[in-house]
Amino acid sequence: TEFISANDLSSLMDVSVNEVIKVCMQLGMFVSINQRLDAEAITIIADEFGYDVEFMTTEEEQALEEMQEENEEDLVERAPIVTIMGHVDHGKTSLLDYIRNANVTAGEAGGITQHIGAYKVKTESGRNITFLDTPGHEAFTAMRARGAKVTDVVIIVVAADDAVMPQTKEAINHAQAAGVPIIIAINKVDKPSANPDKIREELSQMNILVEEWGGKYQSQEVSAKSGLGVEDLLEKVLLEAELLELKANPERHAIGTVIEASLDKGRGYVATMLVQTGTMQIGDVVLAGSHYGRVKAMTDHRGRKMKEAGPATPVQLLGLDGAPQAGDKFVVMDSEREAREIASNRSQMQREQSLRTRKHITLDEIGRRL
Ligand code: GDP
Ligand code: MG
Repeated sequence: TEFISANDLSSLMDVSVNEVIKVCMQLGMFVSINQRLDAEAITIIADEFGYDVEFMTTEEEQALEEMQEENEEDLVERAPIVTIMGHVDHGKTSLLDYIRNANVTAGEAGGITQHIGAYKVKTESGRNITFLDTPGHEAFTAMRARGAKVTDVVIIVVAADDAVMPQTKEAINHAQAAGVPIIIAINKVDKPSANPDKIREELSQMNILVEEWGGKYQSQEVSAKSGLGVEDLLEKVLLEAELLELKANPERHAIGTVIEASLDKGRGYVATMLVQTGTMQIGDVVLAGSHYGRVKAMTDHRGRKMKEAGPATPVQLLGLDGAPQAGDKFVVMDSEREAREIASNRSQMQREQSLRTRKHITLDEIGRRL
């Protein structure tokens, strides 16, 4: 079987295709840019560049394919998944906290908020938004580097008493590179020294022209301290989300991404998972990175027990046999035996890899990266 082209392989390894072709020639293999390579050739070439290659098993391929194939009629609307980014001290944490605490529905009152890395709220207009509450944009970048596309909309926070700062620009660049729509939140407008116009001006200098100034970017003046403008900001997120027509199939095995995971002394391994499509249920067999397990319990960010979790829902999950990495994909599988086998193959790979401290790529038949 042939897998990917010399060109694709070079981009997976982050080297130029010319280098790959040169190395091939030195090895006595004459390949052209678009020539597809077999497993042996890929392994040899990757080895020259310090990479180990993992070829996926058919079970994993099937799970991945299922995720991509959905019948239109099975799809229903899902909540947008939002990440807040911006310069340090511009108010990311404050905004996330305000939203989490303000949008508490009657039934939720009393629950104690726990930091689980993600939460879902209902806006005043009765619609849901899921927020990823990961510190800074490192997690976002890490997840993206692992190929995880999770975020639908990015809110860029800029403090109105400060300026567009290096990390503001970096965050905008990251979002643009990922092709994720941006909404600007001009924060701290309660401060006497706030100057939102100056922020709009500085943004325009980097080609981010807000709607008020005739541009295409939605923006909202907010105060994460008083809550001013926050509900309007959420409505703008929903407007942006409508354009994206976000849909998922709740009537299938859950698939999603690991947000964070750790070992809790009393409870064992605890993982925050974001279900992206399908519905996760107690008792499901989950394969997450190089770990697996049966779902023993699920709780939300207020520590309340959940029986199931549908699309765009974050859950804190108990039952895995270890802590997967942030950005790892997870799938619910029919067979516990299969999940165990794949998990143990992957752990084995990781152990070997860490011994050799080599880089590594995973390929399926058409060269997608896991
Ligand atoms: P982060 O580093 O982006 O997460 O910023 P924080 O949320 O930690 O906020 C940094 C500081 O700005 C804290 O002292 C906050 O209390 C303060 N702050 C955040 N938002 C506002 C706001 O809207 N108004 C005022 N006056 N202070 C704010
Ligand atoms: Mg913070």
